[in-house]
Amino acid sequence: MILKDFFIALSQNQFLNSAAKKYGLKMGAQSVVAGTNIEEAIHSIKELNAHGISCTVDNLGEFVFKKEEATAAKEQILKVVEAIHENKVDAHISLKPTQLGLDIDYDFCKGNVREIVDRANQYNMFVNIDMEDYKHLQPSFDLLDDLSAEYDNVGTVIQAYFHQALEYLQKYQNFRIRLVKGAYKEPADIAYQDKKDIDENYIKLIEWHLLNGKFTSIATHDHRVINHVKAFVKKHNIPNDKFEFQMLYGFRRDLQLKLASEGYNFCTYVPFGSDWYGYFMRRLAERPQNLNLVMKQVFNKKTNTVIGVAAGAFFLGRLTKSEKKNCKK
Ligand SMILES: Cc1cc2nc3c(=O)[nH]c(=O)nc-3n(C[C@H](O)[C@H](O)[C@H](O)COP(=O)(O)OP(=O)(O)OC[C@H]3O[C@@H](n4cnc5c(N)ncnc54)[C@H](O)[C@@H]3O)c2cc1C
Repeated sequence: MILKDFFIALSQNQFLNSAAKKYGLKMGAQSVVAGTNIEEAIHSIKELNAHGISCTVDNLGEFVFKKEEATAAKEQILKVVEAIHENKVDAHISLKPTQLGLDIDYDFCKGNVREIVDRANQYNMFVNIDMEDYKHLQPSFDLLDDLSAEYDNVGTVIQAYFHQALEYLQKYQNFRIRLVKGAYKEPADIAYQDKKDIDENYIKLIEWHLLNGKFTSIATHDHRVINHVKAFVKKHNIPNDKFEFQMLYGFRRDLQLKLASEGYNFCTYVPFGSDWYGYFMRRLAERPQNLNLVMKQVFNKKTNTVIGVAAGAFFLGRLTKSEKKNCKK
């Protein structure tokens, strides 16, 4: 839990975030981020498509508080839409409302998202509104409500750690929905804190949406959940075209290939761009074993950046403290 809190705190550090942008992919991020530009992302998508895997593409970006930055992000995502179309790759868009100005002004953000959904719609391409922290939950649902009145190529994510997740899911029953456990730190009055409770709620949501929903994207690296879903769809005769599995780029690649080769629809979430830092820190928060990626870089190369040093020092300091605490017990 200490490690999780630590990396979530790092992910929210704006100084480290902007410092990281200057240095390109570092600290092992290159194994879970598909490059810093559109060409590199398209290259990765082609490789995945060759294995029968479709992709959802995320132009990484956080801490957007200026209209110019949000407009630049929109322009970049429009270029991604065009690149997907021109290269005829099997991919769609995932976007984060805060990157498109949700913290600046709702209508401004809606205009940006609308432009992307409209362009994607011309190419019959789906757009997923990713879910961020609780503060942005309702405005993100509002975006979905407003845009789905005009377009049907839009959907969102439901996070199983919320007590009210099933209610949200029931409201959006007729949408293509990505189900996840949830990546942010939320307080106990609105969200389950124990892994066991989150996992139980996650399974409940998946089963409900598989039986009642339009299309379910089961986004997890948890093989126990995946095996449960495989048995559940078999038992209830749920056809393969009603659901897909999703995982993040660079994680459990063998399992990704195996599921695709078994005939399941599989979609890899492909993040790219220079604003990789917050995304990478959240991945470390989820699974401290991912630290292997960092440690290899820290100890094999002497070319580390100020970010690596700062993060490493902070991390070791906290770890030592917690180890000392444990020794006392
Ligand atoms: C495609 C995708 C999109 C997402 N979109 C969002 C979003 O919009 N909003 C949001 O809040 N969150 C999102 N998430 C993150 C999600 O909420 C979880 O934080 C994240 O997926 C970690 O939970 P998990 O279900 O993968 O399994 P965990 O609970 O992290 O892991 C469960 C078990 O699975 C096994 N396992 C997990 N990872 C690995 C690995 N790399 N190698 C080997 N075994 C492993 C281990 O046995 C582990 O104990 C997304 C995740 C994915 C995959």
